[in-house]
Amino acid sequence: MKNIKKEKSGKNEGEVACCPVCQSRAVGYIAKERLYCADCCVEFSTKKGMLLVFALSWEGELRELKKIG
Ligand SMILES: [Zn+2]
Repeated sequence: MKNIKKEKSGKNEGEVACCPVCQSRAVGYIAKERLYCADCCVEFSTKKGMLLVFALSWEGELRELKKIG
């Protein structure tokens, strides 16, 4: 087994480093191009430079909040 260290050097273009709604950094990928913010409980996805923000409704449906970009 080789130990592979991933070191972050600078920002990757196109990567979302923080939540577009609350600017929290408690975001993580839940799927490819889909991220979730643990602080304000929204999902957002990145598509070719455009950012889509979704909110979960009471019924568990995703509702589009806003588009950025
Ligand atoms: Zn947030």
